[in-house]
Amino acid sequence: MASDAPSTDAGGVLRVALPVPLHRLFDYLPPPGPVPDVGCRVRVPFGRRELVGVVVEQGAPEPGGPGELKQAMAALDPAPLVSGELLASLRWLARYVHAPLGEVLATALPGTLRHGEPLPDVRPRGWQLTPAGLEGLASMREGRPKALAGALASGPLDEDGLAARLDGWRPAARTLEQRGLAVQVILDAPAAATTGAPGPAPNAEQQAAIDAITGAAGFAPFLLDGVTGSGKTEVYLHAIEACLARGRQALVLVPEIGLTPQLLARFRARLGIPVHVFHSGLSDGDRARTWAACHDRQARVVVGTRSAVFLPLPEPGLVVVDEEHDGSFKQLDGIRYHARDFALYRGKSMGVPVVLGSATPSLESLNNAQAGRYRHLRLHRRAGEARPPSVRVVDVRKRPLQAGLSPELLGEVERELDAGGQVLVFRNRRGYAPVLLCHDCGWSAACVRCSTEERGTPMTVHAAGRRLQCHHCGARRPAPSACPDCGGLGLQPQGAGTERIEEVLQERFPGRRVVRIDRGSTRQRDGLAQRLAEFGDGPGILVGTQMLAKGHDLPNLTLVAVVGIDEGLFSADFRAPEKLAQLLIQVAGRSGRAARPGRVLLQTHHPDHPLLATLLQGGYHAFAAQELGLREAAGFPPFAYLALLRAEARQLADCDGFLRAARAVLEEEAGEEPAVDLHGPLPAPMPRRAGYQRTQLLLSSPARPGLHALLGAALPRIRALPEARRVRWSLDVDPVDLY
Ligand code: ADP
Ligand code: ZN
Ligand code: ZN
Repeated sequence: MASDAPSTDAGGVLRVALPVPLHRLFDYLPPPGPVPDVGCRVRVPFGRRELVGVVVEQGAPEPGGPGELKQAMAALDPAPLVSGELLASLRWLARYVHAPLGEVLATALPGTLRHGEPLPDVRPRGWQLTPAGLEGLASMREGRPKALAGALASGPLDEDGLAARLDGWRPAARTLEQRGLAVQVILDAPAAATTGAPGPAPNAEQQAAIDAITGAAGFAPFLLDGVTGSGKTEVYLHAIEACLARGRQALVLVPEIGLTPQLLARFRARLGIPVHVFHSGLSDGDRARTWAACHDRQARVVVGTRSAVFLPLPEPGLVVVDEEHDGSFKQLDGIRYHARDFALYRGKSMGVPVVLGSATPSLESLNNAQAGRYRHLRLHRRAGEARPPSVRVVDVRKRPLQAGLSPELLGEVERELDAGGQVLVFRNRRGYAPVLLCHDCGWSAACVRCSTEERGTPMTVHAAGRRLQCHHCGARRPAPSACPDCGGLGLQPQGAGTERIEEVLQERFPGRRVVRIDRGSTRQRDGLAQRLAEFGDGPGILVGTQMLAKGHDLPNLTLVAVVGIDEGLFSADFRAPEKLAQLLIQVAGRSGRAARPGRVLLQTHHPDHPLLATLLQGGYHAFAAQELGLREAAGFPPFAYLALLRAEARQLADCDGFLRAARAVLEEEAGEEPAVDLHGPLPAPMPRRAGYQRTQLLLSSPARPGLHALLGAALPRIRALPEARRVRWSLDVDPVDLY
């Protein structure tokens, strides 16, 4: 046999998952050298390109011989990168979201690893004397090398420790190394010591929650359902300490805007060990380092946003999902996974407890808790000194409003400022005004790329009326100075966004600090921290959107004024009431976090609306009970399982044609007794965006297996439809937004 023939030690071929939109694995002959194990990355030829993929199976050559197979070019990992539980869980996820495994793997891996760069070596390095060094120590000349050698005489020291101990240690180490007196060594992972600062003694409810979580053997899902400020984070910290003490790793998922410097500082101070972070604001290199630290068991505690759910945890002990109701856990494009749901799946495969925490649990999680699938841990009271805020509804019918603010509300703001307090005016709409209207003829500025003949999408007014911006597609243009329809000069911004409220408050309270916080004023995470730091502790007014609804602690905030929520009361989206209730409770929870009591003013034209009435009288749980009743009656989640086929094209006929063909396939596959209801094709709630028509087909079923069986049978045929080539289409399993 020719000696340059590819090695076929493992008897055959590598089945490789590649980041391409094809629902299959690809077979290659092993590259020269040792055969890569399952979980290793390989570089392979693919058409005219080279791709990096992950070996997910090894198999016998197909009958017909390996003559046709191409050979992989190189093995990229000496040991498996994605293996064991993580690989198995990702394979499950690929089946669940009906996406190619290669694309799921590409989503799960940080960029540098996806592109084939080596796993960064993050093991801590240290220095150690050689036997010659030990012997020669006494006869060395005075100086830095001798000082260093002296420090190493009692054993190896890590580089961080050396830096703290000895200035200029590195050249000294090089000197010792050149003379054969010391060598650099890789140190073992630091022991998971829990020597952090102690926290407050847990109260009885906290202790019960801690005991339940730390007492769990194997997988156990918990819903930690506690009002804002009830000490949920304290419970996490105790559970993490117990996890570390058992020598295990803990993963904490937080919402996009929940990962604040305050939270990290609190974790680091309490746990007394490095806390690793993982989020989209990090560089690719830093993400890969955190990934490697988890993989190498260096990282014992990781706090991260949505994509941290893909981190490897070879020694898993605990998974926490904080603010589990938060919308940012759902990925809205590409691989449309839900990090909370996948965290539960991983917890189950890893055999560890999963704690979902929230003051306003999602109706899905509440329903699971009530059905006994999750253990329901309740914290009813705020911890420490803080008392619950008092809520007052301000009826603004027939009241003169200034940028949507009533005289009563402005009066309360003034009193609060005079008393030295801080005020948050919450308005979940950024920009100057939501609409620019011609008072003479009724024309209003609409986005040409996002409007249809039947339905205009207004452009938001920005920059005090000078600029228009579409919040859906990003289009911008200067505001016209005269009406394009009638030529009149009566163009007026209608309604008020945060910019206009800021302007009005500045006029009304000259000399007071007014700081606006929204996506327009604050581009990055750090920008938010900085603006809040500028705001400080003294009296002043914050104007903001839901960026301020959670995350940063504002201990001196004593009044929260909520304005402009009425449109949310009448949305067609079945999840709108849940989202609004969560937002209201979360915003209200921002006030009175410390010793001073907090107050909340809720301004509305609908003081008798049932949602508000239930929420104010019975709190979130009364609302949730009522809403779950409505969902059950209407056959909506969590009492039904949904999947959404979305189609986009320049021409409406192409969207409809594709979805009608898809529907025909689904009906045929469903057979005589369909377990799945089909709704559509219907225009999407946002029927046109950025020049594309948008329609959708909703699948709904009382049972998840039936839904997935139908999708599994129909999707290969739907992908092959000739109509599919004329549209951009996607499948969203468990859609959160039916946008
Ligand atoms: P949550 O995560 O539910 O919003 P935190 O854990 O952040 O609540 O606690 C809110 C505040 O109460 C923090 O300042 C925390 O230090 C304090 N706290 C928590 N538990 C206790 C306790 N048992 N005794 C005193 N203070 C507590
Ligand atoms: Zn006009
Ligand atoms: Zn637009």
